[in-house]
Amino acid sequence: MAKGTGTLLRDKPYTFIPLLQVRPDDRRGIVPHNLLDKSRWTGRMTLELSVVTPLHIGSGTYRLIDGRLVQAFLRDGEIPVIPGSSLKGVVRSLAEACSRSCLPRPPVKNNSRLENALPPGVRTRCNDKAACITCRLFGFVGRGKSYRGRVVFGEFRPVGEVQLSVEKLPTLEQPFKDYPQKDNRGGGNERLYYCSFYEAVSCNGPAHCPDCTKEEWLKWFKRLKERLPAAAYRGRKLYLLGEPRSGNQPVETAAPGSVFQGEVTFQNLDEDELSLLCFALGLDGTINLSIGYGKPAYYGTVRTKLLEVSWYARGGLFEQAEYPDLLGLARNYGDHDPDVKKNVDLVRQVLSGERRGPRWGAEGY
Ligand SMILES: [Zn+2]
Ligand SMILES: [Zn+2]
Repeated sequence: MAKGTGTLLRDKPYTFIPLLQVRPDDRRGIVPHNLLDKSRWTGRMTLELSVVTPLHIGSGTYRLIDGRLVQAFLRDGEIPVIPGSSLKGVVRSLAEACSRSCLPRPPVKNNSRLENALPPGVRTRCNDKAACITCRLFGFVGRGKSYRGRVVFGEFRPVGEVQLSVEKLPTLEQPFKDYPQKDNRGGGNERLYYCSFYEAVSCNGPAHCPDCTKEEWLKWFKRLKERLPAAAYRGRKLYLLGEPRSGNQPVETAAPGSVFQGEVTFQNLDEDELSLLCFALGLDGTINLSIGYGKPAYYGTVRTKLLEVSWYARGGLFEQAEYPDLLGLARNYGDHDPDVKKNVDLVRQVLSGERRGPRWGAEGY
């Protein structure tokens, strides 16, 4: 890659998962928290997280280790912990990417050209009468009214000794923003244009896509000024897995092989919701999750394992005798919606590590 100029997607540590249309029927009313619905599933999973590449959960503090100031791993007292929110954020993103879900924060406001680049229904805000599957599971913040969701992530604590070591991470840069500046304020850069653009001009089409550069795009942008093809989003960003890359920023990490354990509780889920949750948690073993700091440098890859599930039954109300097999639900998620299934397959390809992230160039990312 030419020094300091090229922005090749194939050199990036991430890819994109296409946005899916959200049809009116995909949204449902939310289920209140205060009663246990006997036709739905309520329970508690005990999960194990095994660290695959060095994991850093930031605490915002520094420790003096071997005479150096090091960004410290989050602790409860002296015990390194992973807060529920770290896992929740990642699981929510995967759930969004693999379902017909809203974009809770649209990437741009008051730019009709970019707003129209989103598939139908994606921009509509969820509310308590009509919420997408991700908002039904994980909650949403609405105008004046919000919903906290029906999945709760507890804190994950070490099983046995966690070996903490100091790794040197590369400095992570902010991705380019506002590209091109005039027309795309706040819209990000590489999320946009490349694909639909190459469909509209005569080049090699989507196969050329990994080689699209922003410089090429700018050249065409100038030339086509008056008849620009419709904008389109590439999709939601998903970091690839790869060989961790080092730099010179010392951070305290949990070493590969470290094991943490914690609980995820769920309340009043229907089978589709439970199935999506189980898939996004990686219960069937087909995907790894990336949590904590340094995803662009391939840090924080973890593997999940379901140790136990307890089902809640209240009084004689709970009449369902057969509990679902959570690993089976994870494995079969998306089977009844071909568009969802395509995204699921893509996510599996990336998060299984089958499609590896590129080695870092000297330029960083
Ligand atoms: Zn939603
Ligand atoms: Zn392209």
